[in-house]
Amino acid sequence: MEKDGILVYMARYDYENLYICQERETGLRAIIALHDTTLGPATGGCRMWTYARESDAIEDALRLARGMTYKYAAAGVNLGGGKCVVVGDPRTGKSEAIFRALGRFIDRLGGAYIAGEDVGTTLRDMEYIRMETPYVVTLPRELGGAGDIAPATARGTLQGMRAACLAAFGTPELGERSVAVQGLGMVGAHVLALLRAEGATVYVADIDARRAEELAARHGATVVPPERIHALDVDVYSPCALGAVIDDTTLPQLRCKVIAGCANNQLATIEHGDLLRERGILYAPDYIINAGGTIFDTDRLQPGGFNEERAWTHVDRIFETMSGLIEVSRREGIAPARAADLLAERRLAAARSVQNIRRDVRIAM
Ligand code: NAD
Repeated sequence: MEKDGILVYMARYDYENLYICQERETGLRAIIALHDTTLGPATGGCRMWTYARESDAIEDALRLARGMTYKYAAAGVNLGGGKCVVVGDPRTGKSEAIFRALGRFIDRLGGAYIAGEDVGTTLRDMEYIRMETPYVVTLPRELGGAGDIAPATARGTLQGMRAACLAAFGTPELGERSVAVQGLGMVGAHVLALLRAEGATVYVADIDARRAEELAARHGATVVPPERIHALDVDVYSPCALGAVIDDTTLPQLRCKVIAGCANNQLATIEHGDLLRERGILYAPDYIINAGGTIFDTDRLQPGGFNEERAWTHVDRIFETMSGLIEVSRREGIAPARAADLLAERRLAAARSVQNIRRDVRIAM
C-alpha cells in the first residue's frame, strides 16, 4: 500500500469504501473499511490499538476487512467483510465519549457496517456504541446479544479438529489423540476442557505459568515450557495464542500430523501452508476453524433474532465445512489454506452471478 497509494491498493483487492473518522472534542480517531457486501452488510470487529503510523492503521483496517469477507463466505454466513480500527491505547485511551462518538459515525453509515468486539475492545465498549446506533452485533445477553463467544469458538475449533483427524487418522474421535495446546486464554482454556472431557491426552503451555499449572491441574493435562509446545511429538498441535506461529524457524521443528487451533493468522505466509502440505502435515485453516464465535455471535442478525439452538447447530457445521475443504484441497492438489480461499471466492462468485451486482443489503435492527 505504501508504494502504490490507497486507491490502487483498494482496486487491487476490490474494496468498496474506506471511512476516516475524527472528533476533536472526544479525541476519537478511527478508520472503518468495507471490503465486499455481496453477501450482506459489512460486519467485523472494532480493534483498538496504538499504531506507529496512520498508514499502519489504515492498512490493518483494510487487511482485516478483507479477511472478514473470506471468513463469512467460507463459513456460509450471509454477511460481508468490514473492520473498524480505533487509534489509541486500549489500557489508557478509552472513554464512554470515544465509543459513543464512534457509534454516531457507524450510525451515519445506515447499516452498511455492523461493529463487533475485537482485540482491545470489550462488551462494555460495544454497549457504549449501542447507545448511539443499533448497528453493533457483539452484546451481552441482557441486551439481546450472544454474550461471551469464546465457548463457541472453542466448540467450533474441536469440530474442525475432528474433521482434520478424520482425514489424517481415519477417525474423528479425539479420545484417542494426543494434543498440544499453545495458549490457555479465553478460548484455549475451553479447548483444553473439551479435549479432556473427550479423553484426549493433552499437553499445555502458556506464558502465564501459574495459569497453565492451575488449568492443567484442574483438567488433568501436562504443562510444558512455551518454547517447546509446538515441537512436541503429538498427533495434533493446537495454536490458541498468537499469530504467525508457523514460520521458517518453527516449521522444521514440527512433529505433529495435524495443526488445528483457534489462533488467527497462524501461517507467517501462505507459502508456509504449501510447505506444511509438502511435509505431510494437515493444516486446518484458521479462519474456518475459528469461525464458531463469529457464527454464534451473528446469529442474532437472522430473522427473529438470536436463537441459541440454531446458533450451536450452525457452529457444529464447521465439521462439514472443514471436511469439504480438505476434500477440495486433496482433489485440486493444493494446500488447505489455499482451498479455503478458493471456497470463499467460489461462493462470492456464485452470489455475484445470481445478483450480477453487489447487493448492498441492510438488516433491520
Ligand atoms: P486471550 O488473549 O484470552 O488468550 C491468549 C493466551 O495465550 C493468553 O493466556 C496468553 O498468556 C497466551 N500466550 C501468549 N503468548 C503465548 C506464547 N508464546 N506461548 C504460549 N501462550 C501464549 O485470547 P483468546 O480470546 O483466547 O484468543 C486466542 C486466539 O484465538 C487469538 O489469536 C485470537 O485472535 C483467536 N480468536 C479468538 C476468538 C474468540 O472468540 N475469543 C475468535 C476467533 C479467533
